[in-house]
Amino acid sequence: MKKLAARHQVIVQSGAGIPASVPDDAYVAAGASIVTAAEAFAADIILKVRAPSEEERGQIPSGRVLIGMLNPFDAENIAAMAAAGLSAFALEAVPRITRAQSMDVLSSQANIAGYKAVMVAANTYQRFMPMLMTAAGTVKAARVLIMGVGVAGLQAIATAKRLGAVIEASDVRPPVKEQVESLGAKFIDVPFLTDEEKEIAQGVGGYARPMPADWMRRQAELVHERAKAADIVITTALIPGRKAPVLISEDTVKAMKPGSVIVDLAVEQGGNCPLSELGKTVVRHGVYIVGEPNLAAHVAADASALYARNVLDFLKLIIDKDDALAIDREDEIIKATLVCAGGEVLRK
Ligand code: NAD
Repeated sequence: MKKLAARHQVIVQSGAGIPASVPDDAYVAAGASIVTAAEAFAADIILKVRAPSEEERGQIPSGRVLIGMLNPFDAENIAAMAAAGLSAFALEAVPRITRAQSMDVLSSQANIAGYKAVMVAANTYQRFMPMLMTAAGTVKAARVLIMGVGVAGLQAIATAKRLGAVIEASDVRPPVKEQVESLGAKFIDVPFLTDEEKEIAQGVGGYARPMPADWMRRQAELVHERAKAADIVITTALIPGRKAPVLISEDTVKAMKPGSVIVDLAVEQGGNCPLSELGKTVVRHGVYIVGEPNLAAHVAADASALYARNVLDFLKLIIDKDDALAIDREDEIIKATLVCAGGEVLRK
């Protein structure tokens, strides 16, 4: 904030920082002024976390620049922002190139969600995570199964490891095996039987693609066995722009031990377990299934601080050395993130 306020006029909606324990006074001390929401929406550049609601969109004058996690796959919202005359940047679409790493909001937030998923699981689980040898008997270490080992999954492994759990993990992308093993967890190998399977598993741009049905069936058989032995299952598997793959079927839940816990981080994209319910913790077949969306928001202060850093680095891209707005439409990061401008939808 201080860095921005040193060169620009920064206005902050009153109370915007309260959920992350940042009072209005702290923004004033850093050089900003506190305004109402309507005044904030009149700024030249508007920085938000999520896409504006219809009502909020109505308050933003045409020609303004909007930056946030605007969901590049939400065609309806993008069309509405285009019709409102906004230049909107969806930060989730930042490409996975070295220059853009510090702007990668999906990574900064997934890292937090992976950590918090383990915290929530440990809180819900009625036993210890580490192995304990006490005078009253020995307690076995919890067995944790992680499905999907991207940024969130890797952090979940690291966090569960610190708590003393025994960990297994599955992913489609081959390089993940080495990463999983380097964190002291066991990789569940689902062999590729055809060149097509091998090719699809490489993913595209660092992201997974939907695997052929036969590979998914073989993965499900292995996962069924490993889930039976697990105490905690954390699922994080996503495929950009699509419904999350189903990895823990109802039959697998039925086979799990009573009192075991599933935390489904993919719940907002339909869930990796069909029994997860958005925003709820339910008990199905004796298993606790946590469907809390946006777990990063439960580590609000750090989620906010890291997001702010992502946004600040993105801003440097569209502000030139004379502090003027300068959008270079040829820049690779701009091209990928600018979803609409000049009344036109740029991302289909
Ligand atoms: P993501 O959130 O899109 O998906 C989570 C994980 O689910 C991925 O690892 C994916 O392979 C996995 N998955 C999808 N379908 C699956 C299935 N059927 N079974 C099991 N797993 C499945 O992924 P992410 O966290 O964004 O990370 C993906 C990769 O990109 C990671 O290797 C990460 O390190 C890398 N990455 C690179 C950069 C960069 O180079 N700048 C930035 C961020 C992430």
